[in-house]
Amino acid sequence: MTQTEDRTSLSTEDTPLVPIEKIVSLCKRRGFVYPNSEIYGGVSGIYDFGPLGVELRNNIRRYWWWSMVQLNDNVVGIEGSIITHPRVWEASGHVENFVDRLVDCKNCKRRFRVDHLPAENLKQNKCPVCGGELTEPRTFNLMMETYIGVVEGERMKTYLRGEACQNIYLDYDNVLKSSRMQIPFGICQIGKAFRNEVTPGNFLFRQREFEQWDLQFFVHPSEMQKWFDYWKAFRFEWYQGIINHTDRLRFRAHGPDELAHYAKQAFDIEYRSIIGWQEWEGIHWRQDWDLSRHSQFSGQDLSYTDPETKERYIPWIVETSGGVDRTFLNLLLDAYEEEPQSGKDKEGRTVLHLHPWLAPVKVAVLPLQKNKEELVTTARDIHNRLKRLMVAQYDDVANIGRRYRRQDEIGTPFCVTVDFQTLEDQTVTVRERDGMTQIRLAIDELQGYLVEKVMWR
Ligand code: ATP
Repeated sequence: MTQTEDRTSLSTEDTPLVPIEKIVSLCKRRGFVYPNSEIYGGVSGIYDFGPLGVELRNNIRRYWWWSMVQLNDNVVGIEGSIITHPRVWEASGHVENFVDRLVDCKNCKRRFRVDHLPAENLKQNKCPVCGGELTEPRTFNLMMETYIGVVEGERMKTYLRGEACQNIYLDYDNVLKSSRMQIPFGICQIGKAFRNEVTPGNFLFRQREFEQWDLQFFVHPSEMQKWFDYWKAFRFEWYQGIINHTDRLRFRAHGPDELAHYAKQAFDIEYRSIIGWQEWEGIHWRQDWDLSRHSQFSGQDLSYTDPETKERYIPWIVETSGGVDRTFLNLLLDAYEEEPQSGKDKEGRTVLHLHPWLAPVKVAVLPLQKNKEELVTTARDIHNRLKRLMVAQYDDVANIGRRYRRQDEIGTPFCVTVDFQTLEDQTVTVRERDGMTQIRLAIDELQGYLVEKVMWR
């Protein structure tokens, strides 16, 4: 199976880039995302996920796990802890180097990351918004500190992990010894990371608490290029397979000034939205840097002995590192469309063209009228059967057109309507979200039809 499923039913025409405010408003209104601690005024760069948001997040995570771990025989998964031994962050270089340089505008008080300032403003020491004078750059470490222990004075300072992938290096040797993996093989993880970002913003794009997904793929140095190219192509195809506007996806090669000293090359997979071309995921050539550093700092030899040739070496690593939250945001930006009035829909509608695999609700079951007992009983019965297989909503409030539009706005790919014909011939109307086409299907065929359409295969 290829990852890029045939989605010819979706419109491929380019639609205008969606303002982030529209997504923020939809997310709050329909229960995808809420500002954290809102009743206390909120915390910048931290969000909570509501009933639909949690479904979408779970589907995103599950789809990544399914295609990275479940489908690849040479990849396994772990789930590491958020807090680790503090030496981990010395070995990784985060305590020393995980910093952002920051300037403030003396006039409008806005704050900017030096590496995000246009070159011209940096040269002239001028605020890009109001033209005011900028302060000298100051350096901030992004690691969030915490303490373990109860007795004051004996508590150990450590950190909430600044990137999730460190657990994979820490568990590498245990995975090797406890599973039947041999090089080349990979370890995947999805988990929270924390950064004291100096300029959080653009909704979920840059947060202080967020969730990353990583593959660390361990190889013999002579095979590094081959596997780097393999995962680079794989990950690009993965993103192509979940969006509508594939022309908004590209690779950006890191320039020599961006590359880590051990990296021969690195690429960002970027997506173009209203905030410009931005990183969605990074594909990194990490060589033997991580395992060498942890060997050195821990005193434990993390080299690998080839079972056949007996050659001993520190494995090199290909990393693919992205995030659940940026995927969540980019998917909504990519899927959102305000369709004008047309012959098919007299009022116009807002629709989320989410991939059916990822949509938070897969099907809505709607009795044509709620005051006709037989219609309601049949619809309830269908709903009860479907909800065991997939997230299914029952809705009998308002006229059928409004109910369809409510489902379109949250991206539900199918609506099943129970009408008077149902009572005669045991068939229902199945209405598809994107084309608004309708077919008639026997109730007995419904489960198989929907499973085929909305579950990944
Ligand atoms: P940026 O240059 O945007 O700060 P980065 O290069 O530091 O990102 P990585 O450390 O490579 O990012 O993290 C890997 C992935 O984690 C990113 O591609 C992104 O999807 C996600 N990510 C990183 N920082 C954040 C954040 N503050 N909020 C949400 N997602 C993030």
